[in-house]
Amino acid sequence: MKMSNHPTNIDLRRELSRVPAHEGFVLKNAVLAWGGRLSLSEIGIAGGKIAFIGPGTAPGQSWPQIDLAGRLCLPGFVDAHAHLDKGHVIRRTGTGNGTLDTAIDLVSKDRSDHWSDEDVSARMAFGIACAHHYGTAVLKTHIDSQPGQLEISWDVFARLREQWSGKIALQGSSLFSIVLARDADFVEKVARRVAQAGGTLGAVTFPVPDLDDLLDTMFSAAARHGLLLDFHADETGDTASDTLSHIASAALRHGMKSKVVAGHCCSLALQDDATVDRILDQVAEADIGLICLPGCNLYLQDRRFDGTTPRWRGVTAFKEAKARGIRVALGSDNTRDPFYPFGDLDMLETFGLGVRTLHIDSPVSAWIDTVTDTPAGMLGVDAGKLEPGQRADFTIFEGRDLGEVLARRESDRIVVRGGRAIETVLPSYRELDPLFTRA
Ligand SMILES: [Zn+2]
Repeated sequence: MKMSNHPTNIDLRRELSRVPAHEGFVLKNAVLAWGGRLSLSEIGIAGGKIAFIGPGTAPGQSWPQIDLAGRLCLPGFVDAHAHLDKGHVIRRTGTGNGTLDTAIDLVSKDRSDHWSDEDVSARMAFGIACAHHYGTAVLKTHIDSQPGQLEISWDVFARLREQWSGKIALQGSSLFSIVLARDADFVEKVARRVAQAGGTLGAVTFPVPDLDDLLDTMFSAAARHGLLLDFHADETGDTASDTLSHIASAALRHGMKSKVVAGHCCSLALQDDATVDRILDQVAEADIGLICLPGCNLYLQDRRFDGTTPRWRGVTAFKEAKARGIRVALGSDNTRDPFYPFGDLDMLETFGLGVRTLHIDSPVSAWIDTVTDTPAGMLGVDAGKLEPGQRADFTIFEGRDLGEVLARRESDRIVVRGGRAIETVLPSYRELDPLFTRA
């Protein structure tokens, strides 16, 4: 019995590698996501860029054609929220007890004991290689920027960003507890370092009596240095934590509309309806982008120690936000650390988790922009789109729609960068062993 004569991804890789680099070629029968819908199209590629999109557009007629047989092609993923510097410390720290407070304590100790240039560099490079392998084209990482660590990690980051340019675009954001903003000189120092590295100014916010003053210090520094802002806000189920509302007020007070993103915002989902409405109205007015981290939020929120099962998914009021026109995105957050012992910076997995957790599935295609052009806009970069003139950075999946793609892991997806299929393997966990045996 003949099982199948459909070309496999291995066949396609071979065909792609046969096209001379200097020659234009056409991918026909590609499924693309346009305005929330999927449609069959052709992609013309020349000189590493997208020459045209659409059926039968000149000058592609004489170019070699490769039939994708209805495979879905998505632009390079944009991961707007990761923590490369914390990644993979779990073999030193252990998993902890699955709460945010314990994770913060464990990582804090690990940081002071181990986070040298060499240590941070090896773990960051590991994460970047994974993200690149899975098809992420742009990744923003938060970088622990406490005094002492600031001087180490940002140099490592700047070096790796340079090394990986052309393969994956990296952006950094500072991360420190908002109470450190009581020292305006410290914030100024961080802002200067961040500006030098093309990053954004960020901190973790939680309710403190002088929150508005601290936010003023952050926003003033950002304005002075022309920086965007990125906050870890309200990562808790405690509805007394409403710092997102304060961030929105500060953004309006400082004339920083559209210049702020906020991650997590978990407690928002547990506020009463009137409060959700009030805060989301503020967020919409300040045009703050919201980033949901479904992996970490599922893992850390509603953690119980009485043998009962969590009753809450831990995610923010995502659909309500989008319905108001607020920009919403999904991000990976932590990988293999006490905040999240899982994860490998695969945005297909993150998207799949988001789809299942948030019920953003009717249709799924209406939400694919949460991992492509919407987070790109939040990062202020021109990416996450398949358009003529853009670099040919996209991923070819075997599935023909998002249902087929999300049903499988698609570990043999074809990641295209500048019109060529990348040929990488995931780094082995064993590569990091020297970091853990030395201690
Ligand atoms: Zn985070």
